[in-house]
Amino acid sequence: TRILLTGGSGFLAAHILELLLKEGHSVVTTVRSQSKADKIKETFPSYTKEHLDFAIVEDVAKPDAFDSVVVSNPPFEAVIHTASPFHFAATNIQKELLDPAVVGTTSILKAVKASAPAVKRVVITSSFAALANVAKGDWPEHTYTEEDWNPMTVEEALANVYMGYAGSKAFAEKAAWDFIKTESPSFSLATINPTLIFGPIFPKLHSLSSLNTSNALTYAITQGAAKEKIPDMGGHCWVDVRDVALAHVRAIDAAGAENQRFFLTANENFNNRTVVDIIRKNFPEYQSSLPSESVEGGNYPPGGIYKTDNSKSTRVLGIKYHDLETAIVDTVKSFKAAS
Ligand code: NDP
Repeated sequence: TRILLTGGSGFLAAHILELLLKEGHSVVTTVRSQSKADKIKETFPSYTKEHLDFAIVEDVAKPDAFDSVVVSNPPFEAVIHTASPFHFAATNIQKELLDPAVVGTTSILKAVKASAPAVKRVVITSSFAALANVAKGDWPEHTYTEEDWNPMTVEEALANVYMGYAGSKAFAEKAAWDFIKTESPSFSLATINPTLIFGPIFPKLHSLSSLNTSNALTYAITQGAAKEKIPDMGGHCWVDVRDVALAHVRAIDAAGAENQRFFLTANENFNNRTVVDIIRKNFPEYQSSLPSESVEGGNYPPGGIYKTDNSKSTRVLGIKYHDLETAIVDTVKSFKAAS
Protein backbone atom coordinates (compact mmCIF):
# COMPACT_ATOMS: atom_id res chain seq x y z
CA THR A 1 0.00 0.00 0.00
CA ARG A 2 1.19 3.54 -0.79
CA ILE A 3 1.07 5.51 2.46
CA LEU A 4 1.68 9.15 3.48
CA LEU A 5 3.10 9.46 7.02
CA THR A 6 3.48 12.94 8.52
CA GLY A 7 6.28 13.85 10.93
CA GLY A 8 8.39 10.73 10.23
CA SER A 9 11.35 11.94 12.30
CA GLY A 10 9.33 11.96 15.53
CA PHE A 11 9.75 9.41 18.34
CA LEU A 12 6.47 7.62 17.65
CA ALA A 13 6.45 8.15 13.88
CA ALA A 14 9.86 6.50 13.44
CA HIS A 15 8.41 3.29 14.94
CA ILE A 16 5.38 3.53 12.64
CA LEU A 17 7.74 4.01 9.71
CA GLU A 18 9.82 0.99 10.70
CA LEU A 19 6.71 -1.23 10.80
CA LEU A 20 5.36 0.08 7.49
CA LEU A 21 8.71 -0.56 5.78
CA LYS A 22 9.00 -4.05 7.29
CA GLU A 23 5.52 -4.86 6.00
CA GLY A 24 6.61 -3.85 2.49
CA HIS A 25 4.54 -0.68 2.09
CA SER A 26 5.65 2.24 -0.04
CA VAL A 27 5.95 5.26 2.25
CA VAL A 28 6.36 8.97 1.70
CA THR A 29 7.04 10.72 4.98
CA THR A 30 6.99 14.43 5.66
CA VAL A 31 9.85 16.04 7.60
CA ARG A 32 10.65 19.64 8.42
CA SER A 33 14.11 19.67 6.85
CA GLN A 34 16.42 17.78 4.51
CA SER A 35 18.75 17.01 7.42
CA LYS A 36 15.93 15.08 9.15
CA ALA A 37 15.27 13.18 5.92
CA ASP A 38 18.97 12.29 5.76
CA LYS A 39 18.91 10.96 9.34
CA ILE A 40 15.85 8.80 8.57
CA LYS A 41 17.67 7.41 5.53
CA GLU A 42 20.66 6.55 7.75
CA THR A 43 18.30 4.80 10.19
CA PHE A 44 16.64 2.72 7.46
CA PRO A 45 19.49 2.40 4.93
CA SER A 46 18.28 -0.59 2.94
CA TYR A 47 15.16 0.95 1.41
CA THR A 48 15.08 2.52 -2.06
CA LYS A 49 13.08 5.60 -3.08
CA GLU A 50 10.15 3.42 -4.11
CA HIS A 51 9.72 2.30 -0.52
CA LEU A 52 10.94 5.35 1.41
CA ASP A 53 10.65 8.85 0.06
CA PHE A 54 10.34 12.30 1.61
CA ALA A 55 8.41 15.54 1.32
CA ILE A 56 9.41 18.67 3.21
CA VAL A 57 6.62 20.27 5.26
CA GLU A 58 8.22 22.91 7.45
CA ASP A 59 5.13 23.92 9.35
CA VAL A 60 1.83 22.03 9.53
CA ALA A 61 0.16 25.20 10.84
CA LYS A 62 0.05 26.59 7.28
CA PRO A 63 -3.44 25.89 5.90
CA ASP A 64 -2.04 24.81 2.51
CA ALA A 65 0.82 22.76 4.01
CA PHE A 66 -0.38 19.46 2.52
CA ASP A 67 -2.04 20.60 -0.72
CA SER A 68 0.70 19.36 -3.02
CA VAL A 69 2.10 16.67 -0.68
CA VAL A 70 -1.02 14.47 -0.92
CA VAL A 71 -0.67 14.21 -4.70
CA SER A 72 1.44 11.17 -5.56
CA ASN A 73 2.08 8.69 -8.34
CA PRO A 74 1.23 5.91 -7.53
CA PRO A 75 -1.56 7.49 -5.51
CA PHE A 76 -1.77 7.28 -1.71
CA GLU A 77 -4.28 4.79 -0.32
CA ALA A 78 -3.83 5.65 3.35
CA VAL A 79 -2.58 8.58 5.42
CA ILE A 80 -1.16 8.51 8.96
CA HIS A 81 -0.97 11.96 10.55
CA THR A 82 1.28 12.12 13.62
CA ALA A 83 2.97 15.54 13.27
CA SER A 84 1.84 17.79 16.09
CA PRO A 85 3.79 19.68 18.75
CA PHE A 86 4.27 17.82 22.05
CA HIS A 87 6.36 20.11 24.24
CA PHE A 88 5.83 22.55 27.06
CA ALA A 89 8.19 25.24 25.80
CA ALA A 90 5.60 27.40 24.07
CA THR A 91 5.46 31.12 24.79
CA ASN A 92 2.44 31.61 22.52
CA ILE A 93 0.01 28.72 23.18
CA GLN A 94 -2.29 29.61 20.31
CA LYS A 95 0.45 29.85 17.68
CA GLU A 96 2.83 27.15 18.90
CA LEU A 97 0.44 24.47 20.22
CA LEU A 98 -3.20 24.96 19.17
CA ASP A 99 -2.69 26.14 15.57
CA PRO A 100 -0.28 23.39 14.42
CA ALA A 101 -2.49 20.72 16.00
CA VAL A 102 -5.83 21.96 14.70
CA VAL A 103 -4.82 23.52 11.37
CA GLY A 104 -2.45 20.61 10.69
CA THR A 105 -5.34 18.17 11.12
CA THR A 106 -7.93 20.07 9.10
CA SER A 107 -5.51 20.97 6.33
CA ILE A 108 -4.49 17.37 5.73
CA LEU A 109 -8.12 16.20 5.73
CA LYS A 110 -9.11 18.94 3.28
CA ALA A 111 -6.16 18.20 1.01
CA VAL A 112 -6.92 14.46 0.98
CA LYS A 113 -10.57 15.09 0.15
CA ALA A 114 -9.68 17.53 -2.63
CA SER A 115 -6.73 15.80 -4.26
CA ALA A 116 -6.17 12.21 -3.06
CA PRO A 117 -9.27 10.25 -4.10
CA ALA A 118 -7.61 6.82 -3.68
CA VAL A 119 -7.18 7.29 0.11
CA LYS A 120 -9.51 4.94 1.97
CA ARG A 121 -8.45 5.60 5.56
CA VAL A 122 -6.84 8.46 7.46
CA VAL A 123 -5.36 7.52 10.86
CA ILE A 124 -4.68 10.42 13.20
CA THR A 125 -2.56 10.37 16.36
CA SER A 126 -4.71 11.90 19.05
CA SER A 127 -4.06 11.42 22.76
CA PHE A 128 -5.42 10.43 26.15
CA ALA A 129 -5.38 14.23 26.56
CA ALA A 130 -8.39 14.31 24.22
CA LEU A 131 -10.25 11.92 26.57
CA ALA A 132 -9.18 13.06 30.01
CA ASN A 133 -11.15 15.50 32.11
CA VAL A 134 -8.42 17.39 33.97
CA ALA A 135 -10.91 19.08 36.28
CA LYS A 136 -11.83 15.67 37.75
CA GLY A 137 -8.25 15.06 38.89
CA ASP A 138 -7.48 11.52 40.10
CA TRP A 139 -11.17 10.50 39.79
CA PRO A 140 -10.70 7.01 41.37
CA GLU A 141 -14.28 5.95 40.74
CA HIS A 142 -14.03 6.49 36.97
CA THR A 143 -12.89 4.15 34.18
CA TYR A 144 -11.72 5.97 31.05
CA THR A 145 -12.79 4.54 27.68
CA GLU A 146 -13.19 5.81 24.11
CA GLU A 147 -16.54 7.28 25.22
CA ASP A 148 -14.82 10.03 27.21
CA TRP A 149 -14.09 13.51 25.87
CA ASN A 150 -11.94 16.26 27.34
CA PRO A 151 -14.48 19.08 27.85
CA MET A 152 -11.88 21.89 27.93
CA THR A 153 -12.67 25.29 26.41
CA VAL A 154 -10.22 27.36 24.35
CA GLU A 155 -10.05 29.87 27.18
CA GLU A 156 -9.01 27.10 29.62
CA ALA A 157 -6.45 25.79 27.14
CA LEU A 158 -4.80 29.21 26.97
CA ALA A 159 -4.20 29.22 30.78
CA ASN A 160 -0.84 27.42 30.69
CA VAL A 161 1.24 25.16 28.43
CA TYR A 162 0.04 21.90 30.01
CA MET A 163 -3.60 22.83 29.44
CA GLY A 164 -2.50 24.18 26.05
CA TYR A 165 -1.07 20.84 24.94
CA ALA A 166 -4.12 18.92 26.22
CA GLY A 167 -6.42 21.37 24.47
CA SER A 168 -4.43 21.12 21.25
CA LYS A 169 -5.05 17.39 21.07
CA ALA A 170 -8.73 17.60 22.07
CA PHE A 171 -9.54 20.43 19.61
CA ALA A 172 -7.60 18.75 16.79
CA GLU A 173 -9.44 15.45 17.25
CA LYS A 174 -12.81 17.19 17.51
CA ALA A 175 -12.04 19.09 14.32
CA ALA A 176 -11.27 15.79 12.59
CA TRP A 177 -14.57 14.15 13.60
CA ASP A 178 -16.45 17.36 12.67
CA PHE A 179 -14.83 17.20 9.24
CA ILE A 180 -16.04 13.63 8.74
CA LYS A 181 -19.55 14.61 9.78
CA THR A 182 -19.89 17.81 7.77
CA GLU A 183 -17.83 16.94 4.68
CA SER A 184 -18.74 13.23 4.30
CA PRO A 185 -15.46 12.41 2.53
CA SER A 186 -15.05 9.09 0.69
CA PHE A 187 -12.34 8.02 3.19
CA SER A 188 -12.94 6.97 6.80
CA LEU A 189 -11.07 8.09 9.91
CA ALA A 190 -9.51 6.28 12.87
CA THR A 191 -7.90 8.03 15.81
CA ILE A 192 -5.31 6.51 18.13
CA ASN A 193 -5.42 7.97 21.65
CA PRO A 194 -2.31 6.93 23.60
CA THR A 195 -1.44 7.65 27.20
CA LEU A 196 2.15 8.67 28.05
CA ILE A 197 4.43 6.83 25.62
CA PHE A 198 7.65 5.12 26.74
CA GLY A 199 9.98 3.03 24.61
CA PRO A 200 13.19 2.98 22.65
CA ILE A 201 14.43 5.88 20.54
CA PHE A 202 16.34 5.39 17.30
CA PRO A 203 19.88 6.41 18.22
CA LYS A 204 20.79 7.70 14.73
CA LEU A 205 17.65 9.82 14.54
CA HIS A 206 16.95 11.04 18.08
CA SER A 207 19.54 12.78 20.19
CA LEU A 208 19.70 12.77 23.97
CA SER A 209 19.96 16.58 23.97
CA SER A 210 16.55 16.98 22.28
CA LEU A 211 14.58 13.97 23.50
CA ASN A 212 10.82 13.85 22.99
CA THR A 213 8.82 14.96 26.04
CA SER A 214 7.74 11.56 27.42
CA ASN A 215 11.16 9.89 27.20
CA ALA A 216 12.87 12.96 28.66
CA LEU A 217 11.24 12.00 32.00
CA THR A 218 12.97 8.61 32.11
CA TYR A 219 16.25 10.04 30.85
CA ALA A 220 16.20 12.69 33.60
CA ILE A 221 15.96 9.91 36.22
CA THR A 222 19.10 8.25 34.80
CA GLN A 223 20.82 11.65 35.07
CA GLY A 224 20.08 12.17 38.78
CA ALA A 225 16.78 14.09 38.66
CA ALA A 226 15.18 11.82 41.30
CA LYS A 227 18.18 11.55 43.61
CA GLU A 228 16.93 13.89 46.37
CA LYS A 229 13.19 13.39 45.84
CA ILE A 230 11.40 11.13 43.39
CA PRO A 231 9.05 13.36 41.35
CA ASP A 232 5.31 12.65 41.67
CA MET A 233 3.38 12.40 38.43
CA GLY A 234 -0.05 13.83 37.64
CA GLY A 235 -0.85 10.78 35.51
CA HIS A 236 -0.04 7.10 35.95
CA CYS A 237 -1.04 5.55 32.62
CA TRP A 238 1.55 4.78 30.03
CA VAL A 239 1.95 2.69 26.88
CA ASP A 240 4.86 1.21 24.93
CA VAL A 241 5.67 3.05 21.69
CA ARG A 242 5.76 -0.25 19.78
CA ASP A 243 2.15 -0.97 20.74
CA VAL A 244 1.08 2.53 19.68
CA ALA A 245 2.92 2.19 16.35
CA LEU A 246 1.29 -1.18 15.67
CA ALA A 247 -2.14 0.28 16.44
CA HIS A 248 -1.62 2.97 13.77
CA VAL A 249 -0.62 0.39 11.19
CA ARG A 250 -3.46 -2.03 12.06
CA ALA A 251 -5.98 0.85 12.04
CA ILE A 252 -5.32 1.34 8.31
CA ASP A 253 -7.33 -1.72 7.38
CA ALA A 254 -8.56 -3.60 10.45
CA ALA A 255 -12.15 -4.72 10.13
CA GLY A 256 -14.28 -2.56 12.39
CA ALA A 257 -11.73 0.28 12.66
CA GLU A 258 -13.49 2.71 10.34
CA ASN A 259 -14.60 5.91 12.07
CA GLN A 260 -13.47 4.63 15.47
CA ARG A 261 -11.33 5.99 18.31
CA PHE A 262 -8.85 3.65 20.01
CA PHE A 263 -7.62 4.24 23.55
CA LEU A 264 -4.09 2.86 23.83
CA THR A 265 -2.85 2.23 27.34
CA ALA A 266 -0.88 -0.61 28.95
CA ASN A 267 -2.49 -3.20 31.22
CA GLU A 268 -0.64 -1.81 34.27
CA ASN A 269 -0.03 1.67 35.70
CA PHE A 270 3.34 3.21 36.48
CA ASN A 271 4.76 5.56 39.06
CA ASN A 272 8.24 7.05 39.16
CA ARG A 273 9.24 4.91 42.18
CA THR A 274 8.69 1.78 40.09
CA VAL A 275 10.61 3.31 37.17
CA VAL A 276 13.54 4.03 39.52
CA ASP A 277 13.39 0.45 40.87
CA ILE A 278 13.42 -1.01 37.35
CA ILE A 279 16.46 1.08 36.39
CA ARG A 280 18.21 0.16 39.66
CA LYS A 281 17.60 -3.56 39.11
CA ASN A 282 18.69 -3.65 35.47
CA PHE A 283 21.41 -0.99 35.21
CA PRO A 284 23.86 -1.08 38.14
CA GLU A 285 25.97 1.48 36.25
CA TYR A 286 23.36 4.17 37.06
CA GLN A 287 23.47 3.44 40.80
CA SER A 288 25.16 6.73 41.71
CA SER A 289 22.51 8.79 39.85
CA LEU A 290 19.55 7.07 41.52
CA PRO A 291 17.91 7.87 44.85
CA SER A 292 18.58 5.59 47.81
CA GLU A 293 15.62 3.42 48.84
CA SER A 294 14.75 5.80 51.71
CA VAL A 295 14.23 8.83 49.42
CA GLU A 296 10.58 9.87 49.32
CA GLY A 297 8.15 10.58 46.50
CA GLY A 298 7.06 8.96 43.28
CA ASN A 299 4.12 6.99 44.74
CA TYR A 300 0.51 6.66 43.61
CA PRO A 301 -1.90 9.25 45.02
CA PRO A 302 -3.17 7.98 48.41
CA GLY A 303 -6.83 8.13 47.35
CA GLY A 304 -6.25 6.05 44.20
CA ILE A 305 -6.49 6.99 40.55
CA TYR A 306 -8.88 6.49 37.63
CA LYS A 307 -8.94 3.13 35.88
CA THR A 308 -8.60 2.58 32.15
CA ASP A 309 -10.14 0.15 29.68
CA ASN A 310 -8.02 -0.84 26.67
CA SER A 311 -10.26 -3.71 25.56
CA LYS A 312 -11.34 -2.10 22.28
CA SER A 313 -7.73 -1.89 21.07
CA THR A 314 -7.06 -5.51 21.98
CA ARG A 315 -10.32 -6.71 20.39
CA VAL A 316 -10.34 -4.72 17.13
CA LEU A 317 -6.63 -4.06 16.56
CA GLY A 318 -5.23 -7.17 18.26
CA ILE A 319 -2.79 -5.23 20.44
CA LYS A 320 -0.96 -7.27 23.11
CA TYR A 321 0.57 -4.75 25.46
CA HIS A 322 4.24 -4.68 26.53
CA ASP A 323 4.92 -4.64 30.27
CA LEU A 324 6.57 -1.74 32.10
CA GLU A 325 9.87 -3.44 32.86
CA THR A 326 10.44 -4.35 29.21
CA ALA A 327 9.54 -0.83 28.08
CA ILE A 328 11.81 0.93 30.57
CA VAL A 329 14.73 -1.47 30.04
CA ASP A 330 14.53 -1.10 26.24
CA THR A 331 14.19 2.69 26.61
CA VAL A 332 17.29 2.99 28.78
CA LYS A 333 19.25 0.63 26.49
CA SER A 334 18.42 2.94 23.58
CA PHE A 335 19.66 5.97 25.56
CA LYS A 336 22.95 4.16 26.11
CA ALA A 337 23.19 3.41 22.39
CA ALA A 338 22.61 7.11 21.60
CA SER A 339 25.17 8.44 24.04
P1 NDP B 1 7.96 14.12 18.85
O1 NDP B 1 8.22 15.50 19.38
O2 NDP B 1 9.11 13.20 18.73
O3 NDP B 1 7.22 14.20 17.46
C1 NDP B 1 6.46 15.28 17.05
C2 NDP B 1 6.55 15.35 15.54
O4 NDP B 1 5.74 16.42 15.04
C3 NDP B 1 7.98 15.65 15.08
O5 NDP B 1 8.22 14.98 13.87
C4 NDP B 1 7.94 17.16 14.86
O6 NDP B 1 8.93 17.61 13.97
C5 NDP B 1 6.54 17.32 14.29
N1 NDP B 1 6.03 18.68 14.43
C6 NDP B 1 5.75 19.34 15.58
N2 NDP B 1 5.30 20.58 15.31
C7 NDP B 1 5.29 20.70 13.96
C8 NDP B 1 4.95 21.75 13.05
N3 NDP B 1 4.48 22.93 13.49
N4 NDP B 1 5.10 21.53 11.72
C9 NDP B 1 5.57 20.33 11.26
N5 NDP B 1 5.90 19.32 12.07
C10 NDP B 1 5.76 19.50 13.39
O7 NDP B 1 6.87 13.52 19.83
P2 NDP B 1 6.03 12.16 19.79
O8 NDP B 1 6.58 11.23 18.81
O9 NDP B 1 5.89 11.74 21.20
O10 NDP B 1 4.61 12.69 19.29
C11 NDP B 1 3.99 12.20 18.11
C12 NDP B 1 2.50 12.34 18.24
O11 NDP B 1 2.05 11.54 19.33
C13 NDP B 1 1.99 13.75 18.52
O12 NDP B 1 0.80 13.93 17.79
C14 NDP B 1 1.70 13.71 20.02
O13 NDP B 1 0.73 14.66 20.39
C15 NDP B 1 1.20 12.30 20.17
N6 NDP B 1 1.25 11.75 21.53
C16 NDP B 1 2.45 11.56 22.16
C17 NDP B 1 2.48 11.03 23.45
C18 NDP B 1 3.77 10.79 24.17
O14 NDP B 1 3.73 10.50 25.37
N7 NDP B 1 4.92 10.86 23.51
C19 NDP B 1 1.23 10.66 24.15
C20 NDP B 1 0.03 10.88 23.38
C21 NDP B 1 0.05 11.41 22.12
P3 NDP B 1 10.36 18.16 14.56
O15 NDP B 1 10.86 17.12 15.51
O16 NDP B 1 11.19 18.29 13.33
O17 NDP B 1 10.04 19.44 15.23
